[in-house]
This record gives sequence, structure tokens and C-alpha cells, in this order.
Amino acid sequence: MDCLFCKIVAGEIPAHKIYEDDQVIAFNDIAPQAPVHFLVIPRKHIATLNDLSEEDDQALAGHILFTAQRLAVEQGCQDGFRVVMNCNDLGGQTVYHIHMHVLGQRQLHWPPG
Ligand code: 5GP
Ligand code: ZN
Repeated sequence: MDCLFCKIVAGEIPAHKIYEDDQVIAFNDIAPQAPVHFLVIPRKHIATLNDLSEEDDQALAGHILFTAQRLAVEQGCQDGFRVVMNCNDLGGQTVYHIHMHVLGQRQLHWPPG
């Protein structure tokens, strides 16, 4: 399987990691869209949000969310930040290994593009 984020999990491609545990890793986005922009990903390969299983992945999904929350605060975003998960081409997904974007440290606008 040729997955960019699996290669980051495996250490085959370098990334600026800010957190890792047995289930997830978090690292800075290579093309940041805000002063703080990192991604939280599961170590397990799951291609899209549609492939996340309610039966098998509830705890993992919660762990991704709470990791994003905790790291956002640690990175100084306690006054506000945004989490985004793009799903499939129409949702703007470009890397097919699920990831939660966390953006902060600037005023974010709505609606997104
Ligand atoms: P998506 O468009 O799938 O929601 O988000 C993919 C994100 O991964 C983009 O924000 C993009 O900048 C980031 N990205 C793509 N390739 C790499 C890489 O090799 N390293 C890192 N750190 N981020 C990447
Ligand atoms: Zn993968």
C-alpha cells in the first residue's frame, strides 16, 4: 500500500512530530494554513471518514478528537481554533489516510472555501 501518512507513521518519511502514542501521532502540516496547523492521525490506516467503523473505531475517534483538543491548548490556541476532517474528493481530501487538521493562532473565517 502506497500511503504517505503510513510512511510518516513508519518513520520512512520525516515529519515534525509534536506528539505520539500507541494509537495516534500528530505532526505539523507541511503547508501550514495558519500559524498553528498540525494533523492528528491514527497509526492504523483508515482511508476516509466513511471507512471509520462505529463498531470498531469509537475509542480511536474519541482519542483523535481529545488529542487535537489537548495539543491545541498546549500550542496556545485556548482562545479558539478549528478542527477539520475532509472526506473524499468533494470534501477536499487529498491524502487518503484520515487526519484531523487543527488550525489556530489567527482569526478563522466562515464559510470555508
Ligand atoms: P487533506 O487535503 O487531505 O485534508 O489534507 C492533507 C494535508 O496533508 C494537507 O494540508 C497537506 O499540506 C499535508 N501534507 C501533504 N503531504 C505532506 C507531507 O509529506 N508532510 C506533512 N507534514 N504534511 C503533508
Ligand atoms: Zn495510511
